[in-house]
Amino acid sequence: MTVQGTLPPTAGCRSTPVLKQRGQREVFCGLTGIIWLHRKMQDAFFLVVGSRTCAHLLQSAAGVMIFAEPRFGTAILEEGDLAGLKDANAELDREVARLLSRRPDIRQLFLVGSCPSEVIKLDLHRAAERLTQAYAPKVRVLNYSGSGIETTFTQGEDACLASMVPVLPATDARELLVVGALPDAVEDQMQRLLGDLGIGPVRILPARSITDETAVGPNTVFALTQPFLSDTCAALERRGAAHIAAPFPFGEEGTTAWLAAIAREFGVSDEIFAKVTKAPRARARKAIAQASEALCGKSVFFFPDSQLEIPLARFLTRECGMTAVEVGSPYVHDQIHGPDLELLPQGPTISEGQDVDLQLDRAREARADLTVCGLGLANPLEAEGLATKWAIELVFTPVHFYEQAGDLAGLFSRPVRRKALLKVAAE
Ligand code: SF4
Repeated sequence: MTVQGTLPPTAGCRSTPVLKQRGQREVFCGLTGIIWLHRKMQDAFFLVVGSRTCAHLLQSAAGVMIFAEPRFGTAILEEGDLAGLKDANAELDREVARLLSRRPDIRQLFLVGSCPSEVIKLDLHRAAERLTQAYAPKVRVLNYSGSGIETTFTQGEDACLASMVPVLPATDARELLVVGALPDAVEDQMQRLLGDLGIGPVRILPARSITDETAVGPNTVFALTQPFLSDTCAALERRGAAHIAAPFPFGEEGTTAWLAAIAREFGVSDEIFAKVTKAPRARARKAIAQASEALCGKSVFFFPDSQLEIPLARFLTRECGMTAVEVGSPYVHDQIHGPDLELLPQGPTISEGQDVDLQLDRAREARADLTVCGLGLANPLEAEGLATKWAIELVFTPVHFYEQAGDLAGLFSRPVRRKALLKVAAE
């Protein structure tokens, strides 16, 4: 199956040497993922075993959005715990017992490690095993780390999903598993497209509820919707599932290429594929053309933050007419990012990891029309006259698949337009 409009450039970036830097980095920790995961998994509770700092991070990121009973909380380690004067395990067991007796709706409990729990070497894996024995089969208790020592902010979702893979039921059925937490409305759109292509049943990880029939086995094939799920990808492969490599479903081209890779795997004919995708492709192209007017001919510089940088650079350069100066990503995995790198025209520096001062020097020298970076860098760079986009917004906003392609271009064009308006006003 050849998909029109997804031909690679004469020279893509897949074999471009990667600039690897290890130094001070400016990113949120993996606890941030709880903000979108708790909305997705409606019978889950995320119990962060951490400090007051961790509790404040979660409260300030999500507090204003809590209307009902929250599905996350923090078991705060006090000074006595940190000094090893108290039995933190006994206190954790007491907290969990209190929580589960008060909240019978909880079916999955995640114990989420933090910097303090790692520093005192609290073994949350053993705690999860102990608590599973106490509360199974009603409640499944798992653990993962969201600590800032180990994770950048999107790695929290990866660690969470990877922790679920070993306990998924086994199946021999040939099924498609779609992996990555998407807003429900976007997930429904995707399910409709796959259904219209005749592909099903489609299983989802993370499922909305523990009772959904998500299983895995040697005949499972899986597609990722997020480019930061490398540990989950490896865990699924250990269970015998096969990864469908594809560009990520951002923009018209990315969505078409992602669907085409799955359609090929399931033997969907070119005619059916063209029939199902024709109208939404046209809508997406039109929406992108409108929303990207301000981007055409402009340059973009990506700091490493969400691991979405490579697919987004592909979208901005190939569908919005931008030029990438540098595309930084916390990690570059050829298995996961390779198909997008292949489509990204040669030219930008591809960098992995961060030494923030050196990278700031490069960004200041480049003075790109748009700099995509974390919250901590955005304000200082704005003060220096650069237009910025907060990377975290790209994770909190629905941006996948055809119907969101215009909004995705709009997220980038707004700061560029605002900058142009401010310039006119100042003249
Ligand atoms: S896990 Fe670490 S980096 Fe994250 S809020 Fe807690 S102390 Fe801060």
